[in-house]
Amino acid sequence: MKLPTDPAQNLAALIRCPSVTPAEGGALQTLEDMLKPLGFAVARPIFSEDGTPNIENLYARRSGNGPHLMFAGHTDVVPVGDEAAWTHPPFAAEIANGEMYGRGAVDMKGGIACFIAAVARHIENNGGPKGSVSLLITGDEEGPAINGTVKLLDWAAAKGEKWDASIVGEPTNPDALGDMIKIGRRGSLSGSVIVNGRQGHAAYPQLADNPVRGLMSLVDALLHPVFDRGTKDFQPTNLEVTSIDVGNPATNVIPAKATATFNIRFNDTWDAETVQAEIHNRLDQAAGRKKYRPGKKTAVDYE
Ligand SMILES: [Zn+2]
Repeated sequence: MKLPTDPAQNLAALIRCPSVTPAEGGALQTLEDMLKPLGFAVARPIFSEDGTPNIENLYARRSGNGPHLMFAGHTDVVPVGDEAAWTHPPFAAEIANGEMYGRGAVDMKGGIACFIAAVARHIENNGGPKGSVSLLITGDEEGPAINGTVKLLDWAAAKGEKWDASIVGEPTNPDALGDMIKIGRRGSLSGSVIVNGRQGHAAYPQLADNPVRGLMSLVDALLHPVFDRGTKDFQPTNLEVTSIDVGNPATNVIPAKATATFNIRFNDTWDAETVQAEIHNRLDQAAGRKKYRPGKKTAVDYE
């Protein structure tokens, strides 16, 4: 039997499966058909949760005696949009000028196709790898991502699976294919700050409490000083204020409320809890400052 040693053929087979989230679309079956002749034991657990579609996933392992390498990815793809606008049909895997076209070619059926070809070539040329190799493939990455990787990891761990290293086949190639390898990703946390003030006329500020003044102090504290200067492996932690909203159509009315939203990308100096604690601490300290609210006796009232 011919092993799946050709990444282009593997990719074409996967692209021809219309696996738009949450549909399996034949993609996991295609994977199973490629993996079984290579000696993989394949399981396809279905996960569900209220309010989200049931999702089929795949975990395949070729057991050896040595370290365990896991390849992680997903077979689901985003919707095609207006199919008539495609030069090459989204699920046809057409090749033009040496490039294959189709939904998911890059993100990320291409990565899975290459990984399987690499294992197949190793088996064909050198026999089976000494250690264990597994594929942890979800069908829920582009959708709600509730019944996907996290549940699959828990499911496999509960069966006693342990891994020494993992490769994630997500594509990030700003200029050329394969030009970037990442060893991790910064955490992401979004938040919003609402400052409650007291509405009034701009001519009588002593009778009002302008929430924009309070929000200025709070936003100032979020932006300065820097959270850290980066680590050996990651860029500095960075917070971006993504919106400031007052919603006030009048130029001479002090509004009652002001809101800011932000997103922070944090490196391995922090985790979700410590970075939240730091944000709360900065806001609490800033709420008591009088820089933009001279004469105010109370702290900024914020949520
Ligand atoms: Zn992806």
